[in-house]
Amino acid sequence: MTHLNGDVAERAAAGFTDKYGGRATGRWAAPGRVNLIGEHTDYNDGFVLPFALPLRTVVAADRQDGDNWTVWSELSGETITFGADDVAEPGRVTGWGAYVAGVVWALREAGHQVPGARLAIASDVPLGSGLSSSAALESAVLAALLDLGGLELPAERRPRLAQRAENVYVGAPTGIMDQSAVIRCRAGHALFLDCRDESVEHIPFDLDAAGLAVLVIDSRAPHRHADGEYAARRQSCEAAAEALGVPALRDVAVDQLDAALTRLDDEVTRRRVRHVVTEDQRVLDTVALLRAGRVRDIGPLLTASHVSMRDDFEITVPEVDTAVEAALAAGALGARMTGGGFGGCVLALVKADQAEAVATAVKTAYAKQGFTTPGTLTVLPAPGATRLN
Ligand code: ADP
Ligand code: MG
Repeated sequence: MTHLNGDVAERAAAGFTDKYGGRATGRWAAPGRVNLIGEHTDYNDGFVLPFALPLRTVVAADRQDGDNWTVWSELSGETITFGADDVAEPGRVTGWGAYVAGVVWALREAGHQVPGARLAIASDVPLGSGLSSSAALESAVLAALLDLGGLELPAERRPRLAQRAENVYVGAPTGIMDQSAVIRCRAGHALFLDCRDESVEHIPFDLDAAGLAVLVIDSRAPHRHADGEYAARRQSCEAAAEALGVPALRDVAVDQLDAALTRLDDEVTRRRVRHVVTEDQRVLDTVALLRAGRVRDIGPLLTASHVSMRDDFEITVPEVDTAVEAALAAGALGARMTGGGFGGCVLALVKADQAEAVATAVKTAYAKQGFTTPGTLTVLPAPGATRLN
């Protein structure tokens, strides 16, 4: 995982002083996230259960006159600027600056008087690993601009706005999970999100008290054809819902699954539907176990989710399958790929004192296969976006 030297909040503040002189008015942090369970359920109006990571993106910022925005990011080392014309319409700022300009655009479009600002960004969230560095960036920038401008936008309305920045301004078609998790998660909890009505519930997920941890493994697998495959899965789910006469696959209850499958004549589609319907149920079962304080017992549901993604939804790759198998063989209570698939991260539920051994076992299995050494990180559920002192 990305580990630059020094605390991320200090790096953002120091970057601000270095680039612009003086001290920032404030610092705003937003975490990366990982989805505990519920994959490819979001666009089927179903359930997801993400939690926030202790890896964060921090924005140090102050106001500047006029409709001018200046942004420096430690990761590219570049400073970019944009003005009112650039946020009049989506797409005028490209590259990483689009995520920042997109937030300004979405705020202005929603009728807010966005203050001009200078921003310095540092991050510990790895980019493009499926841990949502994009939502962390948008959400930290959003919090900074709202506070600097004295603007009011309740937490429950922030995810939509950040999502619009990404969907419309950047042009990346993502669901509401990332921004909801990054903005609304709480420490020691997972966020149970109903993707149909966007309602959320904070579910106790106190790994620490249970002597457990989650090991996050960055598979480092190249994202092969991920976009095309994602579109194909989505299309197949939508076609199946239509064939079954339901608004979305979320409306197929697990006890109606067998009957529903007999009404689909294509074997591949049947498997896709089976994944989504059983995955929604696994989220509900995970939530029920967590509510009952049975954290350890969710392990088999995580592993079943992986098997379903591997065999029915067919979105895993050898690297992630290897990581899951090695983690389980080394004593993990459950393990699964997390994220859209074809690479990204794997998470394993482990006894806290075994995290290191499981990480080593995964690296050894990788070396045997000749795969690029994976990144590993042991995490507990962290807080969502917040203003720092
Ligand atoms: P993920 O959200 O899984 O990390 P995405 O492809 O959605 O992957 O978003 C990654 C992109 O977000 C990067 O390519 C970059 O443009 C932008 N980004 C995220 N964090 C930063 C940052 N700290 N500085 C600059 N750009 C960033
Ligand atoms: Mg993203």
